[in-house]
Amino acid sequence: MLYGAIEAGGTKMVVAVVEDTGEIKEKLTIPTTTPEETMPQIIDFLKDKAVKAVGVGSFGPVDVVEDSPTYGCIMNTPKLAWKNFDLVGALKDGLGLPVGLDTDVNAACLGEMTYGCAKGVKNVVYITIGTGIGAGIAVDGKLLHGMMHPEAGHIIIPKRLADRGQSVCPYHDSCFEGLASGPSIEARWGKKAYELVDNQVVWELESEYIAKGLMNMILTLSPQKIILGGGVMHQTQLFPLIREKVTELLNHYYDTRELADMDNYIVPASLNDNQGILGAAVLAMNV
Ligand SMILES: [Zn+2]
Repeated sequence: MLYGAIEAGGTKMVVAVVEDTGEIKEKLTIPTTTPEETMPQIIDFLKDKAVKAVGVGSFGPVDVVEDSPTYGCIMNTPKLAWKNFDLVGALKDGLGLPVGLDTDVNAACLGEMTYGCAKGVKNVVYITIGTGIGAGIAVDGKLLHGMMHPEAGHIIIPKRLADRGQSVCPYHDSCFEGLASGPSIEARWGKKAYELVDNQVVWELESEYIAKGLMNMILTLSPQKIILGGGVMHQTQLFPLIREKVTELLNHYYDTRELADMDNYIVPASLNDNQGILGAAVLAMNV
């Protein structure tokens, strides 16, 4: 059985045809410009592919509350052409198929829980650290929505006193995304993450902020596994530093089986950056 999958990002859209085994049969990447330009390309690609349903993991904020009058719409985004755009409605109209929706990070979390390193795990946090920071959260095997969806990239974390960098978040002067996203690294050090690989000071500070963000999520959500994806996390030297700092911050307040095995508790995404598109396919399967 084939399913359509869309990973709707702020800069690009990835559209794919996926087998229910998780095999990606075909994939297309389109720049995210305006709905008028981008949506017809998505619909053209999927319309004669014999897919049974379509799943979307979308950038946000996006209304994922099914009984809401604006369900399926992009909400308040700085990408003004997409503000209030009815993404699910446009796909339903264009393709005449059922459409499943969640956030990009919830989709990635679902992808890892179905095909990747979190198979069989019911309480999972998936965090992307790249252009922005976002978290997909599963509680008891279900993706968490609540009043809308979590926006854990904006949890407040304490800034290191000696850090003279400014938060890059326009809303908060000391939030996770503002202090630890890719753009915040670039703003603080004047270079992109991949150009700073050999600078130990950069990764010490970065891992401290990530560990603080994780600490808040560990204590609030009690996840059994934390998966870190996104461009910044391609800097794999961060993993041992983050694990060490989380252990220090927790200071044995908790002693669980999972925390005793840090190498399998805080792990990199396992699906070669296909976790989002595969999760979107699972949203289609579940619709
Ligand atoms: Zn913020």
